[in-house]
Amino acid sequence: MEINVAKRTGFCSGVQQAYNEVKNSIVDKNKIYIYGELVHNKKVIEELNRAGAITIKGLDDIPEDSINETVIIRAHGISKAEKELLEERFSKVIDMTCPIVTNLVKYVGNKQKEGFFVVVYGKPDHPEILGLKGNVDENKLLITLSPVKISQRKILIVSQTTMGEEEYKNFIVSILTINSFTEVLIRDTICSETVLREKETLELSQKSTLMLVIGGKNSSNTQKLYRISKKYCKRTYHIESLEELKEIVISSQDKIGIVTGSSTPTSQLNKVLEYLSQKKEDLS
Ligand code: SF4
Repeated sequence: MEINVAKRTGFCSGVQQAYNEVKNSIVDKNKIYIYGELVHNKKVIEELNRAGAITIKGLDDIPEDSINETVIIRAHGISKAEKELLEERFSKVIDMTCPIVTNLVKYVGNKQKEGFFVVVYGKPDHPEILGLKGNVDENKLLITLSPVKISQRKILIVSQTTMGEEEYKNFIVSILTINSFTEVLIRDTICSETVLREKETLELSQKSTLMLVIGGKNSSNTQKLYRISKKYCKRTYHIESLEELKEIVISSQDKIGIVTGSSTPTSQLNKVLEYLSQKKEDLS
């Protein structure tokens, strides 16, 4: 049995910083509020809840006694109005919006001021996009996954930071084909950590007989890695727990490739590696 692990595993930098902040704040205060799920990973959320973190689903969910408490904004970011409300209701707001997301928001806002209409290749209901919408001029913004006809002529095209590189390129070609803009600015705003994980998944899946994609079932970046891997390796499994791994038939001939989503902690990967090294011994 051969086991190959992707070079980039564990939390991405944005999630790691937010996670560290939550852990440190819990040590200081015993209790901390997080606005929205910190990561799309059930095990991590359960671990943080046990340690004293309380997830607030939305503004309606803010507790009555919040004025003495601290709230953390997760890596996806939030709208300006929501942030102002949190500042009114909590004694302290720690903004852990990922710097890559913050840069995108600032860039879009600045370009709108220069007269650009901004087309964002992204999912309209994704938290990062909802945050972006709530920080810029919504009248000069279009969020879409499919290329559409646009009446404006001076255009900036950007992408949600976690979209696929290939799909974004295809989107750009299509939207330019069906429109005749007078001025177009195209910016690559996809997070490089996402792109590199996708490249590694593609490479590993082409040389593996079995692929394990570790991450939350509700994590869209993990789902994307699963889809990429499945194209090249039929025996690709998206697993969230060791229990799921135990059900997969593994042989001594298998070449196993392992990748993780950007919201999967190293501890989950280590559990999988421990299990596989034992399995390897058992099969030899
Ligand atoms: S995936 Fe990239 S943009 Fe998103 S939180 Fe992680 S580092 Fe930031």
